[in-house]
Amino acid sequence: MAAINKLGVIGAGLMGNGIAHVAALSGIPVVLMDVQQQALDRALATMAKNMERQVSKGSISGADRDAALARIVTATDNSAFADCDLVIEAATENEEIKKKIFAGLCPVLKPDALLASNTSSIPITRLAAATDRPGRFIGMHFFNPVPMMKLVEIIRGLATEDATYQAVEALAKRMGKAPVMAQDWPGFVVNRILCPMINEAIQALMEGVGDVAAIDAGMKLGANHPMGPLELADFVGLDTLYSVMKVLHEGLGDSKYRPSPLLAKYVEAGWYGRKSGRGFYDYSTTPPTPTR
Ligand code: NAD
Repeated sequence: MAAINKLGVIGAGLMGNGIAHVAALSGIPVVLMDVQQQALDRALATMAKNMERQVSKGSISGADRDAALARIVTATDNSAFADCDLVIEAATENEEIKKKIFAGLCPVLKPDALLASNTSSIPITRLAAATDRPGRFIGMHFFNPVPMMKLVEIIRGLATEDATYQAVEALAKRMGKAPVMAQDWPGFVVNRILCPMINEAIQALMEGVGDVAAIDAGMKLGANHPMGPLELADFVGLDTLYSVMKVLHEGLGDSKYRPSPLLAKYVEAGWYGRKSGRGFYDYSTTPPTPTR
């Protein structure tokens, strides 16, 4: 099985910096690449700050932090990926952008290097088919915030070879994560189950089954969920939730995945949840006030 001794990460946003952070702390040298120097500068500052927090909590030592930060190099082009064993693409969620990235990247990679995408919604099989190595292409879906969340969904495309899966599963474990295998169907495992549950909560709100407080209290106290579904919707972002529901609806063709019209309305209003200050709760007050 191919060992991953050097990792490339494309995209230094929210997810890319988290993946680089965890890999570097696990002892793996990382090349972090972005088209924007500003994103790289921000990612380095974020990783230093987040590792500092881990030092102050006693979960890592100052020496661990220094060694991890020294394992990360940044780049604004592909040439630094030439000796990477695996490159994880975590750039903007846009199929054309990702395909363009792979087209530029593949000629630079070692012939046996593996390629992974952190995409939440684009079929792995389709992305793999746009590369020169569908057998060595796989989905590696981390969860936000990456340093905190244990799960990694590893998604096998139609052409993904067993050796690719095994190498990536071993890497996920080395990074201290708990990998689960998913097949390449819309939403993989978690979003396939979670998003329709939240969508149903929004539909129940629209139909007046309960108000925001009743629905969230009901699921927290009656189903032992740590957060109510509407609170969780605001946390995930209603725009993101809407786009996942559209992917499930279009990809599976079943009306049970229809995005709730009330969700669509909130997105049209620009009420995206926490990030815009208002969703099913109004975040200008402490604690946030239910809006319906
Ligand atoms: P983000 O917007 O925070 O970061 C994306 C980064 O990609 C930006 O820094 C941007 O400059 C960079 N980028 C854009 N085009 C590029 C190119 N051609 N080459 C190199 N870099 C480029 O996005 P994010 O939230 O980190 O999401 C990244 C990926 O991870 C997406 O595919 C998303 O679906 C997936 N994902 C996101 C989450 C989440 O909770 N945000 C969770 C799991 C998976």
